[in-house]
Amino acid sequence: MIRVGEVKAMQKRNTNQKHIVYDALDYLGHADTEKLIAYINEHYEGISLATIYRNLASLQEDNKIARRKLGTMDVYETVKGKHYHLKCRVCGEIYDIPAEDVSVSLNVNDDGYEIEDVDVIFYGLCRNCKNLGN
Ligand SMILES: [Zn+2]
Ligand SMILES: [Zn+2]
Repeated sequence: MIRVGEVKAMQKRNTNQKHIVYDALDYLGHADTEKLIAYINEHYEGISLATIYRNLASLQEDNKIARRKLGTMDVYETVKGKHYHLKCRVCGEIYDIPAEDVSVSLNVNDDGYEIEDVDVIFYGLCRNCKNLGN
């Protein structure tokens, strides 16, 4: 038999683990599961792979995090406003570019397309790598 206190403790632990996964992702900015798992294993004890995957799914259901396809990469990020990405070709870091800083238009007339959304990835150097002279 499970007592009320034990259930509360379990719920608390589950909530904490969910927070840990969210906070880790928030700190990392953008991360694939490999990077996220490595970070969590390095900073927290006793969180299993199954727990991480379960919380990733749960956070996605809650619309707290999103899975994004950036070129060939699949990454998670916390849900923020509409934005695009810049990927540094040297360090591989992914940066958010606010949507209002980007303008994209498609110059075709009446070709039967119905545009619903657009995604843009910029490739180049981040400030750090540029300053290092790469
Ligand atoms: Zn860089
Ligand atoms: Zn982003």
